Amino acid sequence: MEITCPACNKDAQTEAACSRCGCDLTRLRTVLDAAAAALSSACAAFHRTDWSEALHQAETSWQLLHATDAARLAFLAAAGLGDTPAAAHVQLALDCIETTHRRQHLLQTGKIKPLPGPAEAAADQSYLETAQKLCAGLDASLKSAETATDPASRKISRLWREVSH
Ligand SMILES: [Zn+2]
Repeated sequence: MEITCPACNKDAQTEAACSRCGCDLTRLRTVLDAAAAALSSACAAFHRTDWSEALHQAETSWQLLHATDAARLAFLAAAGLGDTPAAAHVQLALDCIETTHRRQHLLQTGKIKPLPGPAEAAADQSYLETAQKLCAGLDASLKSAETATDPASRKISRLWREVSH
Protein backbone atom coordinates (compact mmCIF):
# COMPACT_ATOMS: atom_id res chain seq x y z
CA MET A 1 0.00 0.00 0.00
CA GLU A 2 1.31 3.48 -0.85
CA ILE A 3 1.18 5.92 2.02
CA THR A 4 2.16 9.52 2.64
CA CYS A 5 4.82 10.05 5.30
CA PRO A 6 3.14 11.79 8.28
CA ALA A 7 6.42 13.43 9.28
CA CYS A 8 7.54 15.04 6.04
CA ASN A 9 4.54 14.55 3.71
CA LYS A 10 6.53 12.61 1.09
CA ASP A 11 3.90 10.66 -0.84
CA ALA A 12 3.81 7.20 -2.43
CA GLN A 13 5.96 5.50 0.24
CA THR A 14 5.99 1.71 -0.07
CA GLU A 15 8.93 0.78 2.20
CA ALA A 16 9.13 0.30 5.98
CA ALA A 17 10.82 3.68 6.38
CA CYS A 18 10.27 6.99 4.59
CA SER A 19 12.73 7.40 1.69
CA ARG A 20 13.15 11.11 2.48
CA CYS A 21 13.24 11.46 6.28
CA GLY A 22 13.69 7.86 7.40
CA CYS A 23 10.57 7.98 9.61
CA ASP A 24 9.37 4.50 10.60
CA LEU A 25 6.17 3.80 8.67
CA THR A 26 5.46 0.24 9.81
CA ARG A 27 3.12 1.19 12.64
CA LEU A 28 1.11 3.54 10.45
CA ARG A 29 0.89 0.87 7.79
CA THR A 30 -0.45 -1.62 10.36
CA VAL A 31 -3.14 0.85 11.43
CA LEU A 32 -4.15 1.59 7.84
CA ASP A 33 -4.31 -2.12 7.00
CA ALA A 34 -6.46 -2.79 10.07
CA ALA A 35 -8.77 0.12 9.18
CA ALA A 36 -9.15 -1.18 5.62
CA ALA A 37 -9.83 -4.72 6.86
CA ALA A 38 -12.49 -3.53 9.32
CA LEU A 39 -14.09 -1.41 6.61
CA SER A 40 -14.33 -4.33 4.24
CA SER A 41 -15.85 -6.51 7.02
CA ALA A 42 -18.31 -3.68 7.63
CA CYS A 43 -19.23 -3.62 3.93
CA ALA A 44 -19.78 -7.38 3.91
CA ALA A 45 -21.98 -7.20 7.03
CA PHE A 46 -23.84 -4.27 5.54
CA HIS A 47 -24.69 -6.28 2.43
CA ARG A 48 -25.99 -9.11 4.64
CA THR A 49 -28.05 -6.41 6.43
CA ASP A 50 -26.33 -7.42 9.66
CA TRP A 51 -26.51 -3.87 11.01
CA SER A 52 -24.97 -4.44 14.42
CA GLU A 53 -21.91 -6.18 12.96
CA ALA A 54 -21.65 -3.52 10.23
CA LEU A 55 -21.80 -0.78 12.86
CA HIS A 56 -19.23 -2.49 15.07
CA GLN A 57 -16.76 -2.97 12.20
CA ALA A 58 -17.34 0.51 10.76
CA GLU A 59 -16.75 2.08 14.18
CA THR A 60 -13.57 0.05 14.61
CA SER A 61 -12.38 1.30 11.23
CA TRP A 62 -13.38 4.88 12.10
CA GLN A 63 -11.45 4.79 15.36
CA LEU A 64 -8.32 3.68 13.49
CA LEU A 65 -8.68 6.09 10.62
CA HIS A 66 -11.11 8.98 10.39
CA ALA A 67 -12.18 8.34 6.81
CA THR A 68 -15.57 9.44 5.55
CA ASP A 69 -16.23 5.97 4.09
CA ALA A 70 -16.12 4.45 7.56
CA ALA A 71 -18.26 7.17 9.12
CA ARG A 72 -20.80 6.96 6.33
CA LEU A 73 -21.09 3.21 6.65
CA ALA A 74 -21.35 3.44 10.45
CA PHE A 75 -24.05 6.03 10.03
CA LEU A 76 -26.06 3.91 7.61
CA ALA A 77 -25.67 0.82 9.77
CA ALA A 78 -26.84 2.79 12.82
CA ALA A 79 -29.80 4.01 10.82
CA GLY A 80 -30.56 0.46 9.76
CA LEU A 81 -30.23 -0.72 13.32
CA GLY A 82 -32.54 1.96 14.67
CA ASP A 83 -34.91 1.47 11.74
CA THR A 84 -35.56 5.18 11.67
CA PRO A 85 -36.98 7.15 8.74
CA ALA A 86 -33.60 8.90 8.60
CA ALA A 87 -32.12 5.82 6.93
CA ALA A 88 -34.19 6.31 3.78
CA HIS A 89 -33.38 10.00 3.82
CA VAL A 90 -29.65 9.34 4.10
CA GLN A 91 -29.78 6.89 1.27
CA LEU A 92 -31.41 9.47 -0.99
CA ALA A 93 -28.88 12.14 -0.08
CA LEU A 94 -25.91 9.81 -0.59
CA ASP A 95 -27.31 8.56 -3.91
CA CYS A 96 -27.69 12.09 -5.11
CA ILE A 97 -24.19 13.10 -4.02
CA GLU A 98 -22.83 9.98 -5.67
CA THR A 99 -24.67 10.73 -8.91
CA THR A 100 -23.24 14.24 -8.87
CA HIS A 101 -19.70 12.91 -8.37
CA ARG A 102 -20.13 10.22 -10.99
CA ARG A 103 -21.42 12.76 -13.48
CA GLN A 104 -18.48 15.08 -12.80
CA HIS A 105 -16.09 12.18 -13.23
CA LEU A 106 -17.70 11.22 -16.56
CA LEU A 107 -17.44 14.82 -17.72
CA GLN A 108 -13.80 15.09 -16.64
CA THR A 109 -12.82 11.87 -18.36
CA GLY A 110 -14.71 12.85 -21.50
CA LYS A 111 -17.10 9.88 -21.30
CA ILE A 112 -20.06 12.21 -21.56
CA LYS A 113 -20.24 15.56 -23.32
CA PRO A 114 -21.25 18.66 -21.40
CA LEU A 115 -24.64 20.09 -22.36
CA PRO A 116 -24.30 23.17 -24.56
CA GLY A 117 -23.60 26.50 -22.82
CA PRO A 118 -25.83 27.55 -19.94
CA ALA A 119 -27.71 24.20 -19.96
CA GLU A 120 -24.64 22.44 -18.50
CA ALA A 121 -24.27 24.90 -15.65
CA ALA A 122 -28.01 24.64 -14.95
CA ALA A 123 -27.85 20.83 -14.88
CA ASP A 124 -24.82 20.86 -12.54
CA GLN A 125 -26.55 23.37 -10.33
CA SER A 126 -29.74 21.33 -10.08
CA TYR A 127 -27.84 18.17 -9.08
CA LEU A 128 -25.93 20.10 -6.44
CA GLU A 129 -29.00 21.86 -5.10
CA THR A 130 -30.92 18.61 -4.79
CA ALA A 131 -28.07 17.04 -2.84
CA GLN A 132 -27.73 20.10 -0.63
CA LYS A 133 -31.46 20.23 0.07
CA LEU A 134 -31.50 16.57 1.02
CA CYS A 135 -28.52 17.09 3.31
CA ALA A 136 -30.06 20.16 4.89
CA GLY A 137 -33.30 18.29 5.54
CA LEU A 138 -31.33 15.43 6.98
CA ASP A 139 -29.32 17.76 9.21
CA ALA A 140 -32.53 19.20 10.60
CA SER A 141 -34.10 15.83 11.33
CA LEU A 142 -30.89 14.61 12.94
CA LYS A 143 -30.51 17.72 15.06
CA SER A 144 -33.86 16.92 16.58
CA ALA A 145 -32.55 13.42 17.24
CA GLU A 146 -29.71 14.85 19.37
CA THR A 147 -32.08 15.23 22.27
CA ALA A 148 -33.76 11.89 21.61
CA THR A 149 -33.78 9.48 24.51
CA ASP A 150 -33.28 6.22 22.61
CA PRO A 151 -29.60 5.29 22.09
CA ALA A 152 -30.01 4.43 18.38
CA SER A 153 -31.23 7.93 17.46
CA ARG A 154 -28.53 9.57 19.54
CA LYS A 155 -25.86 7.42 17.93
CA ILE A 156 -27.08 8.31 14.44
CA SER A 157 -27.05 11.96 15.35
CA ARG A 158 -23.48 11.78 16.69
CA LEU A 159 -22.24 9.90 13.63
CA TRP A 160 -23.89 12.37 11.31
CA ARG A 161 -22.01 15.23 12.95
CA GLU A 162 -18.76 13.36 12.34
CA VAL A 163 -19.58 12.64 8.69
CA SER A 164 -20.71 16.15 7.89
CA HIS A 165 -17.62 17.89 9.30
ZN1 LIG B 1 9.22 11.34 5.66
